[in-house]
Formats: sequence, C-alpha cells, structure tokens
Amino acid sequence: MATLDISFKPERAHLRKPKAGAFTGRIVPQSVSGRYRRLKWTAVIVCLAVYYILPFIRWSRGPGQPDQAVLVDFERGRLYFFFVEIWPQEVYYLTGVLVLATLVLVLVNSLAGRVWCGYFCPQTVWTDLFLLVERLVEGDRRARLKKHGAPITPQRVLEIGTKHGLWILIAMGTGGAFVLYFADAPSLIRDFVTGQASAIAYAWVGILTASTYTLAGFAREQVCTWMCPWPRLQGAIWDPEALIVNYRDYRGEPRASAKKAAELKARNKPAGDCVDCLQCVTVCPIGIDIREGPNFACINCGLCVDACDTTMGKLGRPRGLIDYEAWSNIERGWRGEPPQPRMIRPKTIALALSIVALLALMSVSLGMRGDAKIVVIHDRNPIAVTLSDGRTRNGYAVRLYNKTGLERSFALAVSGLENAEVEVVGSDARVTVAPDATYELRMLVKASTEDRLPLQFTATDVASGRSVTAQDVFVPAGGQ
Ligand code: SF4
Ligand code: SF4
Repeated sequence: MATLDISFKPERAHLRKPKAGAFTGRIVPQSVSGRYRRLKWTAVIVCLAVYYILPFIRWSRGPGQPDQAVLVDFERGRLYFFFVEIWPQEVYYLTGVLVLATLVLVLVNSLAGRVWCGYFCPQTVWTDLFLLVERLVEGDRRARLKKHGAPITPQRVLEIGTKHGLWILIAMGTGGAFVLYFADAPSLIRDFVTGQASAIAYAWVGILTASTYTLAGFAREQVCTWMCPWPRLQGAIWDPEALIVNYRDYRGEPRASAKKAAELKARNKPAGDCVDCLQCVTVCPIGIDIREGPNFACINCGLCVDACDTTMGKLGRPRGLIDYEAWSNIERGWRGEPPQPRMIRPKTIALALSIVALLALMSVSLGMRGDAKIVVIHDRNPIAVTLSDGRTRNGYAVRLYNKTGLERSFALAVSGLENAEVEVVGSDARVTVAPDATYELRMLVKASTEDRLPLQFTATDVASGRSVTAQDVFVPAGGQ
C-alpha cells in the first residue's frame, strides 16, 4: 500500500495533511474553458449517447424471445447483453464482472487517479448538465453569488422556477431513463407517454427522477466526497506514480502577484509563478485548493488545470503550473531532479495481466456454455434409505434447463451402478421441457452395494442426440 509522503518543510508550508474533504461551505463553481473542459463535454456527449442508444439496439434471439440487446428482464429472470444471456442460476458471472470492474478501477487509479469520477461517472455527467442550466439561467459564479440571499423579485422567482423546471426535466431524461434497460424500450416510451405503462414503471421513473434531482441539483460534490466509497478507497490505493492533478509547487512557490513577483525578482529574491489569483479554486466543482497538496476528494477533472493555464497564458508564462503529474515527480521537481514517467511498472503490468486473464476465463466459460444443462442435488435428510428388500435407495432433485426458444424432449439415464433401478418419480425417463424454461423432477436410484460410488446423470436431447451430464454419488445405507 502506498503512503502519502509529503515533505513538510517550512518552505512547503502551503501543503496540508492529506484529507478526504474539501470546503464545507456552499460551492459555486465558475465556468472555465480549455482543453480539459472540452474533453469533459466530449465525455458527457459520449456517455449520454451510449446511455440512450444502448436500449434501442435490437438483437435477434429467436421467436418469443426479447430482441433488446441490453435488457434486465425481471419477468423472465434473465439478464441479456447482446449474445450473452445470464440465468438466475448463473449470477456468479456478475461476480466476475464486479471483480473485473474493481481490477479496471484499480488499474485506472494507478494510471490516472479518480479520472473515472471526473469524466465518466453518472453523478459527474448529470451534475455537469445541471451546472450548465444553472449558469444559463442565473449567470456565472459572480452573478449567482450576488443572487444568493438577495431579496426575492418576480424576475428571481421566474429564474428559480425555470432552473428547477429544467432540472426536473433533465433528471427525468437522465436518471429516469434508466427504466429503459428494464423493459422493451420503444414500447415502454409509447406506453409511458400514452398513460398505458404499469404503475411500477411510473413509480420507478419518479424515484429515479427525484434521486437524480436531489443528488445532481443539491448534493453534488458531497456525493463525490462523502457518499461515494471511492475517496476512502483512494486513501488505501493512492499511488504516487499515478498521473493525477497536482500543483508544481517547486515552480509556483513562493506565490506573489505579478507586480510583487517582478519586484522580488529585481531584488534577486525568489518568486514563484503562482500569482494567487484563486482561479484554480473558484472553478473546482469540489471546492479544493489543489495547491495544498494531493486531496483524496479531488475527482481529477482537470478544470483547475484549464483555469491556471489561462492565467499563465495571460501572463506569458509557461502552462502546466497545475497539471496531470505524478506526485513522485512533484517531489523530484522540488529536489531539482528531472521527472520520470512511470506508467508502465510492475503494479500496472500485473493489474493489466489479471484483467486480461479474467476476461479470457470468463469468455471461455461463456463460450463453452451449452443450450441445455442438468443440475443434480442429492437428498440431504435422509441421505440413504434401506428398503424392505435390503437394497438402498438414494433420492435426487434434478433440474433440467432448456435455454432455447423451442420445446425439447430429454431422455434421462443414470450410469455408474450395475443392476441399479432408476425411477423418475411421477414420470417416465423422457421429459418435455418448455422453451426457455426449467423443469424440476425427482429421481430415485435403488441398488445393493456397500460402496460409495460415483454416478453420472445424463439428459439426452431426443431430437439432436446431444447430451448434458452431471456428477453425483450413490451413498450406501450407513455410509453417510
Ligand atoms: S482540484 Fe482540480 S482536478 Fe481536482 S476536483 Fe478540483 S478542479 Fe477538478
Ligand atoms: S490558478 Fe494558477 S496562478 Fe492562479 S492561484 Fe491557482 S495555481 Fe496560482
């Protein structure tokens, strides 16, 4: 685990102990333009495009099957993702996806800190849209600060009403639109608009709209700092080699206004490039002063980089006083050493290899899944029964899965025990399973043996002749 090693020397008094918090007062971020702001808008557009397009992509799965490419179907108990169909019994694949997501997040964190939070997290995307509306309706930071606490006028009432009306519409169109992933999207929209949708659909749109309105309109940076577990995790997996937004204090300190800096330099006294204009602080959506050192609440959005680059540009000084830079290089800069880019290192290689290995494992496992399956569970109590004729009887719960859209007949057989009698309770050894369904039955195996023997249960598709098997054991009386 990396620890945050900051040299607290007197000349670096601007640094503060690492913290997972920011300003506690109301944060009214100022607009900013620059390359990272443009990158953020691009990320917003791409994220929203993917979010809205995905539920409308069709994927043919045969007659009677939903043709929505990405769908969580509670009614059938299925999760559809293009060619992948996950049944409730295969939910362990979701565990694999969660482990994969965790590995990717840790790798991204090792490369570029909380860059997911700053560019792609839905909370960031929604908040960017809400802030845009706020600026368009109420003005930029200065105008908004003036209006806070000012007497209410009809004009102000109109502004507040317009802002909240637009916020609610955006909340419904963003958070509320999540329901499109849980039903056939085109039909749901038609039914929703014409009042034909189910009460549960209206209720969920209401809940998601309300939560988005609250989180993006009011909670904002508090979600990123206090509600999300990521800042706390960040403390544990913080990586001094990651490209995170940092202030080049060795270049910026001691800070002074442009005029004062010129005077100091004329007197051969040290003066840094930071003119203490506070632009980097006023644009920060979290309210951080990045000059105080790395802050676990920083979402790595780069807006302070844009703000400082603008200031440096106006002063004719080189850009990059605040920049995406590894903390280890800031320390090197302070010691007068050249920076060393270390994106590729054992940790990032190991994480990348783990991701590739897990992806390959899951792909092979998914690729090897058949369109039928048999699962056998041995009776637990009693595990074996002695019959009046001296033989032993074992009972098994058997479940057959038909993962196709066609009705199928399966012939059941048990092998591994000579002279065993096999009984399918209430049926013969051939059962019919409805399309895209499971069939549960009970099987009894009776035999004379004193050995614990392996059994193989086979279900053979009568039409195709293909078989699926499951292993279990025959337990003799008194052998449990
Ligand atoms: S300190 Fe800079 S990078 Fe971090 S959240 Fe604030 S503006 Fe974004
Ligand atoms: S924007 Fe740049 S110059 Fe202005 S206070 Fe921040 S670091 Fe200093």
